[in-house]
Amino acid sequence: MTESLHEHATEVVVVGAGMAGLMAATTLSDRDVVVLEASGRAGGRVESVRRGDYWINLGTQFTEGTGTLIEALERHQVSMGTLAGKTVALSLHGKQVDTSNPFGLMFRSRMTFMDRIGLAAVGARILAATPFLQMNPENRLAKRVRAKLDTLSASYVLRGIGSEVARDMVRSWSGQWMGCEPEETAATQFVMSMGILLTDPAKVPNLSLPEGGNQTLTDILAADLGDRLRLNSPVTSVERTEDGVVVDYEDENGPVRIRARRAIVTVPGDVAVKILPSLPAGYRTAFDDIRYGRYVVVGFFTREEGPQRWDDYIAVSTPQLSFQAMFNHAAALRGPGPRKPGGALACFAGGAVADSLFELTDEEIVSRFTADLLSLYPELEGKLDEGIVRRHHRVVPFWAPGGRASLPTLRRNLGPVHLAGDYQLDMPSLADAAASGERAAKQVLASLPRGRFS
Ligand SMILES: Cc1cc2nc3c(=O)[nH]c(=O)nc-3n(C[C@H](O)[C@H](O)[C@H](O)COP(=O)(O)OP(=O)(O)OC[C@H]3O[C@@H](n4cnc5c(N)ncnc54)[C@H](O)[C@@H]3O)c2cc1C
Repeated sequence: MTESLHEHATEVVVVGAGMAGLMAATTLSDRDVVVLEASGRAGGRVESVRRGDYWINLGTQFTEGTGTLIEALERHQVSMGTLAGKTVALSLHGKQVDTSNPFGLMFRSRMTFMDRIGLAAVGARILAATPFLQMNPENRLAKRVRAKLDTLSASYVLRGIGSEVARDMVRSWSGQWMGCEPEETAATQFVMSMGILLTDPAKVPNLSLPEGGNQTLTDILAADLGDRLRLNSPVTSVERTEDGVVVDYEDENGPVRIRARRAIVTVPGDVAVKILPSLPAGYRTAFDDIRYGRYVVVGFFTREEGPQRWDDYIAVSTPQLSFQAMFNHAAALRGPGPRKPGGALACFAGGAVADSLFELTDEEIVSRFTADLLSLYPELEGKLDEGIVRRHHRVVPFWAPGGRASLPTLRRNLGPVHLAGDYQLDMPSLADAAASGERAAKQVLASLPRGRFS
């Protein structure tokens, strides 16, 4: 039996309800807009689970950056949690050291002399380039350094370094912050994220852990859209026509077609090439140049009481364990006054380590991470709730050396089809996803005459 095709019309269709799609749709809220989301929830790579006073971010870890995202959090009065006085740490050979002080990192952690030399050389390479990446990108010198780093693999920081500890640490940093191996990515993103974190996390603009998790904002944006947001509605095709677009999707009743004047496509790059037929070759190449990091995350709610060793750490690097980092979301709630019982921790593995964990069952992953978390903090014995596992095959986009040259193509609309997503701007992040969604919506508004469509 052939299912009949339902057809209707709207002014703008937004494909995907991650941060980019939600921001695009809410910017267009006084227009006729329909948002089509493949999965059963809004938020995309933003996901938080909540229990009592605590939450665990199983997708996007930290909110950071400037512009659209931060303005939306302020507009909706989302409490940002306090990270003042909180730092990051490194656990090596069983000893934990605060890394916000490079001197402490070098001389208080358990390392041989050769490891210290190796690590100092890596740090010097990263720190030499960092100031240029923090300059106005239009600055001539900044452009030159960025262009050079775009052609180098991040593994250049390891050239000539024999120390296994230094190599393990670079792999672990690349895995935990980008979800890839240093050989896979151009140096730019790696140096930028590591440079800031190595010097002072307080320099990351608006680094925060919004209360209730990053999903607090995506929940608010989704609620604002009401029934204009259609979940469980995977889009199969976005076709350009003479006077607009035709979008085909599936819902529980079968195939549906919407005709619209504009579409904003906010799905990840590898999905975009599948749902956009007759994509010009330049766009296809630019999408194909995007790579994604991989993560395995296990979240644990905890039941400890009284002050703990990790209370003031937002992140602990653990290059010698089965996970490469532990993030402490409860740090945002720790301020002056009595400490609430319990907590929330997320253990992360990225890159090649995540690839091999993908082969295991959830139970095997939880059992490995639990054993290593207890080796790090034996005082948590008997105080961990069940592990909550997520397997992420797309974390942040990155580009192989030379690959980023094709990116500017994706910032241009294809007639009535506008693109948005975290891959569009300079440092792929939640903030960039939000900014790209708002930017695409403003372009659509500028291209459509005011008032209701008819
Ligand atoms: C574990 C993890 C940790 C991270 N940590 C950080 C961090 O600390 N800081 C930071 O800034 N960023 C972080 N990121 C990256 C950040 O989450 C992303 O950059 C951002 O959420 C991307 O938003 P987006 O809207 O571009 O894409 P997505 O969130 O991927 O949204 C795309 C949406 O499109 C939907 N979709 C896909 N196919 C279809 C289809 N055919 N039809 C309809 N809908 C479809 C998807 O279901 C999804 O909802 C992290 C990501 C992960 C996974």
